[in-house]
Amino acid sequence: MPELPEVETTRLGLAPQLEGRRITGVTLRRPDLRWPIPGEITALLPGQVILGVRRRAKYLLVDLAPGSALLHLGMSGNLRVLPGDTPAGRHDHVDIALDSGRVLRFNDPRRFGCLLWQPAGETHGLLRHLGPEPLSADFGGGHLFRCSRGRQTSVKAFLMDQETVVGVGNIYAAETLFRAGIDPGRPAGQVSRARYDRLAEAVKDILAQAILAGGTTLRDFIRPDGRPGYFERELFVYGREGEPCLACGRILSGNRLGNRATVWCGHCQK
Ligand SMILES: [Zn+2]
Repeated sequence: MPELPEVETTRLGLAPQLEGRRITGVTLRRPDLRWPIPGEITALLPGQVILGVRRRAKYLLVDLAPGSALLHLGMSGNLRVLPGDTPAGRHDHVDIALDSGRVLRFNDPRRFGCLLWQPAGETHGLLRHLGPEPLSADFGGGHLFRCSRGRQTSVKAFLMDQETVVGVGNIYAAETLFRAGIDPGRPAGQVSRARYDRLAEAVKDILAQAILAGGTTLRDFIRPDGRPGYFERELFVYGREGEPCLACGRILSGNRLGNRATVWCGHCQK
């Protein structure tokens, strides 16, 4: 599944090709992805100039004067800007044609992605209850400490809750908890302020590194230029159950926590 760094990498790749371009047409090859594609997409986009491409959590917002097209890549989606005459493949569900002669193409084999509409001046329901952006000044150890008091849920589930902070998926939760030395199963309410400071620092650091590296390599993920990311070789615990800890050499433990595969070092993480 594309995580926040992949989505930010996609945004960085798309923005220079989209910003300032006028939309000349929209082709929908099916009426829905995860949800029906609203009528505003075909009615309002043609003729509009793209004012900007933003990201909120794992959503991309293509800003136009009357509002924003809201996109999510779901489990397997990707967005590419291609020459306008590139033949559409089987899972190429949406084309947004540009006055540059190129086309923004949304491919999504599993159709867990979405294309929705957010009118200007409004916040879409999907974006209303999201926590702060992890790389913003609003996010830090103090925020994690305050939100976690009295919480019995595991610190890993707490960190992955989008109302706590957005964009920390399973890979980054595992990696940041390892970096901060925190046992992922520890109740969130029992982690000290000092340890949350370390955790927040790890979140910022690891996500920023992953964005610089172009996102984590995942089978389904393709960058806007068609090449895969290459962060996988830097993973310390994710996907490494039964292998030696890269810090202490002991065998990494694996378990399911909140129904998600979780790997940690019982010696380095307390
Ligand atoms: Zn270890």
